[in-house]
Amino acid sequence: MPELPFITVLAENLRPLVEGRVIDDVLVRGASVLKTFDPPVTGLIGRRITRIERRGKLLVFRLTGGVVVVMHLRRNGRLQVLPSTKGRTAKDLAIAFAFADGTDLRMVELGPKKAASVWLFPAGREEAAEPLASLGMEPLSSQFSREALAAMLREERTQIKRFLTLQRYIVGIGNTFADEILWEARVSPQAMAAALTGDEVARLHDAITAVLGEAVASHRKEFDGSLPMREPLHLLRVHRHGKEPCPRCGTPIAVIYYEDRETYYCPTCQAGGKVYADRRRSRLLR
Ligand SMILES: [Zn+2]
Repeated sequence: MPELPFITVLAENLRPLVEGRVIDDVLVRGASVLKTFDPPVTGLIGRRITRIERRGKLLVFRLTGGVVVVMHLRRNGRLQVLPSTKGRTAKDLAIAFAFADGTDLRMVELGPKKAASVWLFPAGREEAAEPLASLGMEPLSSQFSREALAAMLREERTQIKRFLTLQRYIVGIGNTFADEILWEARVSPQAMAAALTGDEVARLHDAITAVLGEAVASHRKEFDGSLPMREPLHLLRVHRHGKEPCPRCGTPIAVIYYEDRETYYCPTCQAGGKVYADRRRSRLLR
């Protein structure tokens, strides 16, 4: 799923392509993509996109006439800007915003499971409604202090890997960057959030800001002004790098499979040398 670095660069690179454009038409193809009905989607016609912002993993489009469009790409949604004459009948098209200049902004969603979502709000009402209302703190904002993180951790009885991905405490981190951050912090993905020591909390806070900050910079360089379509795996150090040597100590990176999530970690740096049971495999062997 696209996470904070990917969505940050997507928003940045969308701006020159889309800000200032007037919406001429809207084509809704995905049966479940539109999550609101008031204001109606036809109400976007004739409005100009004035500003695109990122909030967590979401994109927020501000339009003239007091309308706000919120988009969540989920796992397989992507945005493209293409000439309106090309490929509008593609079956992966979820929604298209046609501009007066002959281009479309399109949300496409690959795969059978359709989860990408679009919401429309009257300006000023979006912050109090889902999906924005329950979002937590931006990890690259000045509010995200070590003390703020320590207070959040005390509130939650869950493993730290899951805590990092919840969005109600810290936004923008998913399965991929949770692994990258925990490796950087040398914290076990299975440690309980509320039981981290002061040292671990300090390392985790430093890792969250450093890993995400560096990833934004490396994603910017990687996509070089284009709209990102795939997470660049070669920029990651442990996630999706199972069995490869840990960049810090050389131990092969281990994987835990749980439901449809994979957790990658270094047994030496993060787990005191322990390789955790692979719950998926052990269930199959029984
Ligand atoms: Zn290691």
